[in-house]
Amino acid sequence: MGLETALPIDGVLTTQLQKVINWSRRSAIWPMPFATACCGIELMATAASRYDLSRFGAEVMRFSPRQADLMIVAGRVAVKMLPVLQRIYQQMTEPKWCISMGACASTGGVFDTYAVVQGVDQFIPVDVYVPGCPPRPEQLIEGVMAIQRIIDEDRIPPKGPDGKRMPLQIAIPPTHRVRPQPMPLTVGQS
Ligand code: SF4
Repeated sequence: MGLETALPIDGVLTTQLQKVINWSRRSAIWPMPFATACCGIELMATAASRYDLSRFGAEVMRFSPRQADLMIVAGRVAVKMLPVLQRIYQQMTEPKWCISMGACASTGGVFDTYAVVQGVDQFIPVDVYVPGCPPRPEQLIEGVMAIQRIIDEDRIPPKGPDGKRMPLQIAIPPTHRVRPQPMPLTVGQS
């Protein structure tokens, strides 16, 4: 069923150590869900049976940052929660990546108030932005696959001259087209 069926009996497979490391790393991404609002429900749906994030080896949500290498910020982040987010990100193992899921995490969304962080990328390095309010599970999966492609290409996140981690800042394009309403709107009409 696996690799052994593609190899002849007593066959030998040669490769590079770095490719094996990248392959194992990209096949076992362990996310750290930082789900604070409605986007978190879509994150849960992505891991459930219909979308089955397990197909990409990334279903093992860890609630200890020591065991996680992919931060998924799903939902708005209040200013009071920001130190918690930063602390958890700092405690995660290297190399690590970050997905900002949804409009609120990336920009504050409709919550243009003093109490809500207007984009988590001002405080932690974001590698992949997933658009939407909320994003569909397919879009989040596309974001995870973008991280997998980065790992495959051996692009371990670089550090800048100041020693700080440089974000990759990849934006996932929307996966759907806006279509007209299926029936005429009657609200406010006599
Ligand atoms: S982007 Fe939309 S769905 Fe996601 S947390 Fe904000 S309001 Fe909720």
